[in-house]
Amino acid sequence: MSSISKTPREECPRCGSGLVHLEWHERVNAREVHDLWHCWNCKNEFVTVVTSDEKEPSVSEVTEQFFTSLLV
Ligand SMILES: [Zn+2]
Repeated sequence: MSSISKTPREECPRCGSGLVHLEWHERVNAREVHDLWHCWNCKNEFVTVVTSDEKEPSVSEVTEQFFTSLLV
């Protein structure tokens, strides 16, 4: 859903290439997600930490509102 249009653009910290691919991601706690990136250019792998802004609604809250509107 929104994850497709909001795909973050990352650059490889080793070669600076933008040809990176999000290989895997893991939510480590309620507000922090670790993304594992793979660089096609130099085969480097690196991890970025995405911290949720606490002012933004969480994914679960958005989903709940979505389903609620479907039921009405
Ligand atoms: Zn690279």
